[in-house]
Amino acid sequence: MTGFSDLGLRSELLETLRTLEYSEPTPVQQQAIPVALKGRDLVAEAQTGTGKTASFALPMIQRLSKSHEEGEYRPIRGLVLVPTRELSVQVADDTLEYGRALKMRVVSIYGGVRFDNQIRKLKRGADILVATPGRLLDLIRHEVISLAQVEMLVFDEADRMLDLGFIDDIRKLLDLIPEQRQTLLFSATLNESVEVLAEKLLTEPKRIAIAARNSASKQVKQSIYAVERGDKADVLAFLIKAGNWQQTLVFTRTKAGADALTESLQEEGISAAAIHGDRSQRDRLAALKQFTDREVRVLVATDVAARGLHIEALPQVVNFDLPNQPEAYVHRIGRTGRAGMKGHAISLVGGDERRFLKAISDLIGKPLQLQPVPTFENGKLMEGGYLSEKQRNPSKRARAANKKQKETKPKSKEYREDSSRPALRQSLFKK
Ligand code: AMP
Repeated sequence: MTGFSDLGLRSELLETLRTLEYSEPTPVQQQAIPVALKGRDLVAEAQTGTGKTASFALPMIQRLSKSHEEGEYRPIRGLVLVPTRELSVQVADDTLEYGRALKMRVVSIYGGVRFDNQIRKLKRGADILVATPGRLLDLIRHEVISLAQVEMLVFDEADRMLDLGFIDDIRKLLDLIPEQRQTLLFSATLNESVEVLAEKLLTEPKRIAIAARNSASKQVKQSIYAVERGDKADVLAFLIKAGNWQQTLVFTRTKAGADALTESLQEEGISAAAIHGDRSQRDRLAALKQFTDREVRVLVATDVAARGLHIEALPQVVNFDLPNQPEAYVHRIGRTGRAGMKGHAISLVGGDERRFLKAISDLIGKPLQLQPVPTFENGKLMEGGYLSEKQRNPSKRARAANKKQKETKPKSKEYREDSSRPALRQSLFKK
């Protein structure tokens, strides 16, 4: 078995890994670290949660470490480009941790917050800068940063960076970074646009693929429940309560949807917080902290806000809405089943969303079967217990009456709270 000591890492880094209780390298670390230490370019297809941060941060720290005078200005020699603020903070935190023994100065910058703090942090420079492309360009324009001494460049979650439309910013940045450098590119999925970027950026890269192409982690059990849109909030509250789920990350497609669902869960007595692009960076970090500190049971997030979040041992991820981009499904469910733990990804799929399922199945190369929502018995999930509306109201007349009732009832709080849908509640909580 390959251990960290077989990978060519310095003793200070091995000691740090021991302190962090990383007993053995993950597959991406086993493959990427020796290649990166040799100075070669690298394209790695690896999902979040596979340990990819350490697989680029450790070689970067080793390559850039050297002795410094106290207070000496540190030019930026390592640059990690990331798609979102959250990932920027997270990658910088991890890198700082890995590089502590070698006294690496690591700074993270991202948009959506004031410039002055970031400018202050950069006063004495940084060995490694972790940045989102837009804010980085702004700070270069303000002449706060120069990239002229960058020796090593990493693209983290390159597919997501392209999805978010950063290609023009990336082009501008490339003009400012020396051509003579080592470049590593990490991406959960290697689609055509990532390949085009890799072609432009890298020189004879070594390629490694950790999971099978575009496949979701085997550690994650995937359940696809057929639920009509109007019943989704009820079904989710039921699953959380009946399954006694203490930490669940829920994805919605829209910011308004995230807020509405958070409110509805709170009305059901389930503590929840939301993160999305309309909330300030401070609020987003506060919500994430509440969730990781287990002050709230549910974190409701949109895709952009959730990029790069790592929450230790997250047991459940729920797709309240299916994403219309199949790659986002792989990213979302990659939030669970991390670092060797088992996870469960649940998707609530309305009739109008079934068309997305096919694209997702094609991408992950695995059929995804729609199932009825399970009931629980003695705290255990039982498949096949949910009664569809047709089953609940078998006669045509009853179905028509139910439809009419739904149409005439306003969608107010009273409507959600009254028991006008006892059939659904009864069937869900059926013992
Ligand atoms: P990442 O894919 O970089 O986001 O890493 C996912 C999580 O796995 C992080 O919390 C890391 O601290 C942790 N991790 C990374 N490498 C190892 C390892 N070799 N052993 C145990 N945990 C690890």
